[in-house]
Amino acid sequence: LAGGIIGSIMALKVQMTALPQRQAISLAFGALAATLVGISEFYRGGELGGIKMTALGFEVMFGSLTVAGSLIAFAKLQELMRGTPFTFKGQNIFNVSLFVATVGVFVYLIFNPDNMTLFFAMVAMAFLFGILLVLPIGAADMPVVMSLMNSYAGLASAATGFALQNRVLIIAGTLDGFSGFILSILMCKAMNRSITNVLFGAFGNTSDTGTVVEGTMREVTAEDVATQLAYARQVVIVPGYGLATAQAQHTVRELAEALGERGVAVKFAVHPVAGRMPGHMNVLLAEANIPYDDLYELEQINPDMAATDVAVVIGANDVVNPDARDNPKSPIAGMPIIEVDKAVQVVVLKRGKGKGFAGIENPLFFKQNTGMLYGDAKASLSKLVQAVQHDGIDEFAELGDLDAAQPHPAPPARVCST
Ligand code: NDP
Repeated sequence: LAGGIIGSIMALKVQMTALPQRQAISLAFGALAATLVGISEFYRGGELGGIKMTALGFEVMFGSLTVAGSLIAFAKLQELMRGTPFTFKGQNIFNVSLFVATVGVFVYLIFNPDNMTLFFAMVAMAFLFGILLVLPIGAADMPVVMSLMNSYAGLASAATGFALQNRVLIIAGTLDGFSGFILSILMCKAMNRSITNVLFGAFGNTSDTGTVVEGTMREVTAEDVATQLAYARQVVIVPGYGLATAQAQHTVRELAEALGERGVAVKFAVHPVAGRMPGHMNVLLAEANIPYDDLYELEQINPDMAATDVAVVIGANDVVNPDARDNPKSPIAGMPIIEVDKAVQVVVLKRGKGKGFAGIENPLFFKQNTGMLYGDAKASLSKLVQAVQHDGIDEFAELGDLDAAQPHPAPPARVCST
């Protein structure tokens, strides 16, 4: 009851943007429970045959690995430590050796289950392995780590079920373990990476990014952007983590509606790892009642990008970074992106020159067809809504440009020069 109350309070109080950290700490708690049950079962002694020892071994190995890995993931997501990979020379060899040694001790224990020192050594080795497994993973690979940890926590619970002969735990743990594993594979596919590459590739190492930045960032005003948007034929909105922190989902719907009323076609492009948890953007946009039919996945929207007059990037950064496509040395090379740079005009709403989760520069912000609208996403969007609904647009009608007052009569470039 006490645990349930504490958990409920934590869940009620958590900010939407802190959900990934919350998930990481939950996984750590779940895995800790499994590990402690395993240790107490071992400690209680009794008939520890090979089969029970196998179940206990899996339980404490997966359990303590997950506790350590989830705590490191929590620290990275909470920015208690840097999110980019920590690597050292020979890391992969060391990790593989540690893993083989841990499994070796496990196999020995199956045949000699009474060795308490080795049992605790195995728990400690798995814990260390969990730390070393997650430390070199960073940047855009964190979603995969989270779903892998989810999978391991489930497998630890399933093993607990075998050790305690509890069928509910076996079924629930297996469901959790395999759904987490399937999700990991899907996330890898979305990131264009293999699991081995994620685990051993130290993706996101920012020491030599090979990024070449040319040009300067061009600041634009809300009025300019509102005019561009109001006279566009098609606008694609790309939401990212900044939309979530600004809690601007309702304001973006207002903007879409205001543009829709002027006859502008508005589409939302949702990247699978935008935000900080799988489906983050879908949840946010659904909360604001944005019709599901207006949401497009990146494979659907990218072919449409060249026919888009204005792409509006709201608090997104890594998921629209063209370096992932163009620069093989980039820490996020190969990750599919929403190709906003192919639109006629791009407008980026962000507060300043802050980097994204991967901690790398984004050449998109320096391109000629990109304008930067600085400020909190919600405040900027409110200004845009107001300008689209009233001021900026009516000025054109007053100036006698009656043609421009009609919905989408001209491409944005002509309207700007007018
Ligand atoms: P990013 O983290 O790349 O960028 C977010 C941008 O939003 C920042 O550059 C920041 O710039 C801006 N921002 C922050 N707050 C505000 C605000 N209030 N108003 C306006 N702008 C704001 O976000 P993306 O969604 O593009 O990418 C997600 C990243 O997170 C990927 O690297 C992904 O791999 C990773 N990740 C994803 C998870 C998932 O499951 N989806 C889980 C863990 C990590 P500035 O400071 O200048 O405002």
